[in-house]
Formats: sequence, C-alpha cells, structure tokens
Amino acid sequence: MNALKNTTQKSPTFYISHGHKPIAAHANGIYITANDGKRYLDGCSGAAVVQVGHSHPAVLAAMHEQIDQLQFSYRTQFENQPAIDLGYKIVAHMPPGLDRVFFVSGGSEAVESAMKLVRQYHFHRGEHERTIFISRLPSYHGSTLGALSLTGYQPLQKPFEGTYQLYPKIPSPTQYRIPEGHTAESHAIACANELETNILAIGAHRIAGFVVEPIGGASTGAEVPHNSYFPRIQAICKQYGIPLILDEVLCGVGRTGRWLAADYWQIDADVICLAKGLGAGYAPLAAIVAKDEMVETVLSNGGFMHGFTYAGNPLACAAGCAVLDVIDNEGLVENAAKQGEYLLAQLQQLSERFDWIGDVRGRGLLLAIEFADKASKTPLPNDWKVSQTITDMAYDEGLLVYPRKSLNGIAGDHILIAPPLIITHAQCDELLGLLTKALTTFDT
Ligand code: PMP
Repeated sequence: MNALKNTTQKSPTFYISHGHKPIAAHANGIYITANDGKRYLDGCSGAAVVQVGHSHPAVLAAMHEQIDQLQFSYRTQFENQPAIDLGYKIVAHMPPGLDRVFFVSGGSEAVESAMKLVRQYHFHRGEHERTIFISRLPSYHGSTLGALSLTGYQPLQKPFEGTYQLYPKIPSPTQYRIPEGHTAESHAIACANELETNILAIGAHRIAGFVVEPIGGASTGAEVPHNSYFPRIQAICKQYGIPLILDEVLCGVGRTGRWLAADYWQIDADVICLAKGLGAGYAPLAAIVAKDEMVETVLSNGGFMHGFTYAGNPLACAAGCAVLDVIDNEGLVENAAKQGEYLLAQLQQLSERFDWIGDVRGRGLLLAIEFADKASKTPLPNDWKVSQTITDMAYDEGLLVYPRKSLNGIAGDHILIAPPLIITHAQCDELLGLLTKALTTFDT
C-alpha cells in the first residue's frame, strides 16, 4: 500500500490547496473512517453529496448487479436501460412540463449543459443576439469556464480574467442583513427587480437566461429567500421571455426537505440542473431536465451540439435509480424536513452562547452558521480564518462540516451543516455534541 508516510511527504495528487488530510478507508451510514482508525461523523455529506449515507446496501446491490451485466455502452451506439429508467424516475419528481433529461457526470457539466442547451435553442429560433446570461452575487455555479462566468465569487475568478465572460450579476437577497429602510419582503422584491433593471438596460433580445439557486448552498450559506422573491423573479422572466434556469446541484434531490428546493415556491423553470445528491457519492452522475419544446427545437435542428463521453453510463444510472428509490422508500425527504427542523432549532439555541455567531439559517438538512458580531452583524476579521479554524476543530472532534470564507465583507464566513438525509434524531444530538465542543474550543 502506498499510503503517505508522514505529514511532510508530498502526494502525487493535488486538489484545491496544500494541507495534509487523512486517507479515507471505509464508510458506513453517516460515518467515515480514516486509515488510522479515527471515525468521523459526516455532518456535511462530503459537500452535500451523500444523500442516502455511505454503503447503503440497496445501492451497493444495484451496482453489483449492474456491473455484472453491463459496465459501459456509448451513447451514440446504444441506449441503456438504467439511463431510461432513471430518466423516468427523475421526471416523476419534476414539476409539470419538465420532462426531458440529459445526463452528465457532475454539477459544472450540468450548468454548462443548461447554458448550451438554452443558447442552441435561441440560435435555432434565429435569436442569435441572445448571448448574455444573468446570475447573482454572491453565487457559485461550478468550475468550468461557462459556469465560472455565472459564478459571483471574485477569488475564484481572478486568475482567469479574460478567459471567462463578464456576465452581469444581481444581488442575492438576504433575510439576515436587510438593508436599512427595508423589510425582508421589500428587500427581496428590490433584489428581484434588479433583474428587470438589467434586462431593460441590456435589452431583453440579448439575454440568454437567468441562472439561480433556489436556496443558496456554499455561496450564500443556506440563505432562504423571502417568499415574495421567486414569484417576482418568475413574473419578470415571463414578462420578458427570459428562460429561467435553476441550479439545484446542491439544494436538490431532497436536501432541503422538498424534492426540489423550487417546490417551496412552485417555480415554473425552463431548465433544472441536478447533481450531487443524484449519484449521492456512489457514481459521478448529474442531469439537466428541460421542457420538451426547447429540447425538440434543438433535436430537430441537427441535434444538441454538446456531450460528454461518460454521460448516462449504465453503472452510474443504476446507482442513481437505487438512490432515488431509497429516498422514496425510506421517506428521506420527509426525514430531511423533520430532522432539519430539529437541528435548526437546536443550532439557534446553541448560537445564543457565542457572541461571534451572527446567524443560523437554512431549510431541511441544508443549514448554515454565519460567523459575525452578534450585535452589529459585522463579519469577523478575515485573519481569524474563522470557518476554516472551526472546521479544523470539528475535525479534531471527529465531525465533518463544510467551510466557506467571507465574501469580501459582503457577509461573514460560514460553515454548512448538511448531513445525509438518513440521519436520526439521536445522531443529530451526537452531531450537536461534537459541534458544541468545537465551538467551545474556538471560544476559549
Ligand atoms: N452549482 C452549485 C450550486 C454547486 O454547489 C456546485 C458544487 N459545489 C456546482 C454547481 C458544481 O458542481 P461540481 O463540483 O459537481 O462540478
């Protein structure tokens, strides 16, 4: 075995940053164990991925069965049954009208595919000037250059200036730092109206689409918009004929206590992007779901000029089918709503002990703690590296949480708490106990 010998040894693999991490050895349910034997409670499902927990027997059985039968067939040569079955299962959970599924292997690919489907649709309708996408600040939509153009988070974009597009961004509404003179409702409406302002300034005939996360994940830290926000966004998109693209990569597939976060507001979207929870860590799997008219326009004009070699591969789709069955059969969307409500209330109570916790928020099992001065809501100083430090302290306690740095003073650092949807009441208490220890260590 080529395990790293010590913390100074360089690994041949590299990711976002330096830093020694333990090597994951095996995992079960909501726990993951490193090769030194230390066990961690997965309080963030990796990165809000492991919806049905690790090593779920039904998913493993489905994958074993599939791998014995067919591992790969290429999409231009064969259809495969798991992909067709998964297509039907996804459509069954969609709002009416969204009934065509295009498979990819990850969230960025899904966002990229949505952008290209929409562009090709406009193209075939002779609307060649519709090239500009509008998105929000802050936001995160992925790493590829198209998705990065939508992303409203400067540190990720800076080194690539000149390569990605400078698309316009409208502010994401907040229920925490409501600007003076506004209520939560009037602030949400004002943020939505920025979409109209941009459309009018640029010209509706030049807008390709508006891309938005119904409930913000890593970017806004589980910020839930006021109920008035999406009805207004929807009305603006309809009025000006702008396709509405929902990025449910993180907030979808039951994470927020509804199958789609969009279900909280019955949003009538043109395209929805799904990823993380769909493959649930068992396989690289993601999808876009679009309206038939858009898809048929593209398909009847020479086909969708876009695709990925591994897209819709049978093994990934068999895993996806089993994941969705587990979510339905075990009532995990309902469990996410129930346990999420409990966790949120407990976290809010816990936060009262610390004057450097500004806000606790979220829906279902997509929750966040924002670090800011409680009285003034001012983000904590950057050099405190608060989210990373608390994440490291939680790590020491055997708890995984997901950190995010401050967004240039717009908001404070936050951590996401997003455990697998199978979490039980007792395990929520265990998570809270470990987190309390980490927060107390930071406090002293
Ligand atoms: N959109 C959102 C909302 C995300 O949270 C992410 C991943 N954090 C992505 C897109 C990109 O997904 P992936 O990392 O699978 O490419």
